[in-house]
Amino acid sequence: MNRLSIVAANWKMNGSLALVNSMVSELNNVTLNENVEVVVCPSFPYLAAFSLASDNVNLSKAFSLGAQNLNEFANGAFTGEVSTSMLQEVGASYVIVGHSERRSIYNESSVLVAHKVKAALSAGLKPILCIGESEDERVAEQTEVVLAAQLQPVIDEIGIENFKNVVIAYEPVWAIGTGKTASPEMAQATHQFIREFIAKVDENVAVKLPLLYGGSVNATNCEELFAQADIDGGLIGGASLKAEEFKIICSAA
Ligand code: PGA
Repeated sequence: MNRLSIVAANWKMNGSLALVNSMVSELNNVTLNENVEVVVCPSFPYLAAFSLASDNVNLSKAFSLGAQNLNEFANGAFTGEVSTSMLQEVGASYVIVGHSERRSIYNESSVLVAHKVKAALSAGLKPILCIGESEDERVAEQTEVVLAAQLQPVIDEIGIENFKNVVIAYEPVWAIGTGKTASPEMAQATHQFIREFIAKVDENVAVKLPLLYGGSVNATNCEELFAQADIDGGLIGGASLKAEEFKIICSAA
């Protein structure tokens, strides 16, 4: 199956205007395989600058801009929040939703995550929906139960047919920023479970769904991870801040 592969950079609360400008010029000379899209997700204040810098160098259409979060409402008295129309206006076409740091530090429930996915889709933004189990849940063999409980509210909220515009990132929480990557076999088995879970509701949607792996992906382990049948690229944190390493990861997809 010739699915779209995506390499998404999650800068988290890192980066600067200098990094925006240097990354754009570095990405301008990366060669990507066919059917690969690269999405860079800097912090809100850098989105507009990234768009402008990309336009200035005429960056290929294979590179897109994404945000790391959104508010589920269109506008109003929500101090400190950012809406979908604001993201679009500054050039974002993707948005990360439900990252494990949002779920654990900012108490985002799977129901709130589902509302955010719906808001993103309604505005024409593609959500990168993050799901993943903690180390305790993995050890207790609860991974599949946890992933199902994170996915079901989104399926109920948006309807399975709308998953054609969704990207899922599987990120085991214990592998994020820890240097502990899931083995390619373990990651593949979990990705296969996710695809089959969606396939039980709609097989056509499941075959086309880009499923990214995230959690300590680097220039050394990316190739083996991306070679797995159900892994269609990655969501990259730490390694996406270093242009040389990120370029290797982009070319490996
Ligand atoms: P990491 O982060 O690559 O630094 O583990 C991935 C993520 O949190 O999206």
